[in-house]
Amino acid sequence: MYDSIFDNAISALKHEGRYREFANLERLAGRFPLAIHRGPDGARDVTIWCSNDYLGMAQHPTVTEAMVARVTASGAGAGGTRNISGTSHPIVELERELADLHGKEAALVFTSGYVSNDATLSTLGKLLPGCVFLSDEMNHASMIEGIRRSGCTKQIFRHNDMADLERRLAALPLDVPKVIAFESVYSMDGDIAPIAEICDLAKRYSAFTYIDEVHAVGMYGHRGGGITEREGLADRVDLIEGTLAKAFGCLGGYVTASAACIDAIRSHASGFIFTTALPPAIADAATASIRYLKSSQAERDQHQATVAATRAALTARSLPVMDSETHILPLFVGEPELCKKAADMLLKQHGIYIQPINYPTVPRGTERLRITPTPLHSAVQINDLATAIDTVWTALSLPRDVAVSGPAEVAAPIPAHRSGG
Ligand SMILES: *Cc1c(COP(=O)(O)O)cnc(C)c1O
Repeated sequence: MYDSIFDNAISALKHEGRYREFANLERLAGRFPLAIHRGPDGARDVTIWCSNDYLGMAQHPTVTEAMVARVTASGAGAGGTRNISGTSHPIVELERELADLHGKEAALVFTSGYVSNDATLSTLGKLLPGCVFLSDEMNHASMIEGIRRSGCTKQIFRHNDMADLERRLAALPLDVPKVIAFESVYSMDGDIAPIAEICDLAKRYSAFTYIDEVHAVGMYGHRGGGITEREGLADRVDLIEGTLAKAFGCLGGYVTASAACIDAIRSHASGFIFTTALPPAIADAATASIRYLKSSQAERDQHQATVAATRAALTARSLPVMDSETHILPLFVGEPELCKKAADMLLKQHGIYIQPINYPTVPRGTERLRITPTPLHSAVQINDLATAIDTVWTALSLPRDVAVSGPAEVAAPIPAHRSGG
């Protein structure tokens, strides 16, 4: 009886062409972006073009050596929650490093970026009496979930729309606590929030600002402090959230803010208190990665160069690269089954791995391939990518123009809140 319910839940997804299959990959340190793909026809080399290990730091010797040394010195697990027996010297050091990275008084580390958003936003809502959240409509699932769990009133403002945000702020009493929750780099479109304008509005209407810099830390700013560092705005944003799992190549999430704010979260957030701390080896590896990227600009420069070269190679072949201001290059498809088919053909026929991005990660009718070049992709690999995609686009008669609309669904309104990831 139960299995038939589960089967029905799956067949609905299959029917819509958005059932997800995972690629079984073995990443090999020293060979990234190459990996071994174990598919139905056996094992073969593929080139990864959709990794969030944006700078290849997961295999950087500085990072892996720090991790190995700490495992040897301290063992594998943390040994407990932070309150009971899991606060280790490496995690204390890591938090110092993170507070310094963003120029904040304090930082708090969580087991993932998802947990840091969920735990912090839900706790903020409980700490601030009568709080109202103003949430960008493109916010990540972890922020949506945290705000939902706070039990507070939520208003969704149109994506990066300052007039809409101001209208909503102005309609609220000045003495009601308000939290504006938004991202710096939006992960599926690669656009950037107008952070300075949001801070201006927050000041005028006395709101607390919460920014997710997950897709920017390590990659932007002269020390890798994200877009807020690049634009000199870190001290104007009240709380900066980030991950250790993307550009820093490890695992874990964090928030940085004033000492009072961090102490309140530390003392009240269930998702922090009741779970085992990150292992010391991961903390040390993350610290090594952050420190390295604070002083080395080479990876950031090469990253931007590879992104520019990849964008140029795709546009030269009239492929529909969507507008993006960052390292994220979305390639428009506009239909879920074709999107999956294109990804399948790239993997099977060309040894190129790009995961299709379908609803609910992006609105229906905007299905896409999300390409993330890294500093480790070569000119030859870029050319191979563009040639392979061109071939697949021709074979499937896919749109060459982002404006070309696919099915009727394109005209449907964007859902109030998508769930990313
Ligand atoms: C990936 C992601 C997260 C979650 O970070 P993890 O460390 O992977 O849990 C949070 N916010 C955004 C915008 C993300 O894309």
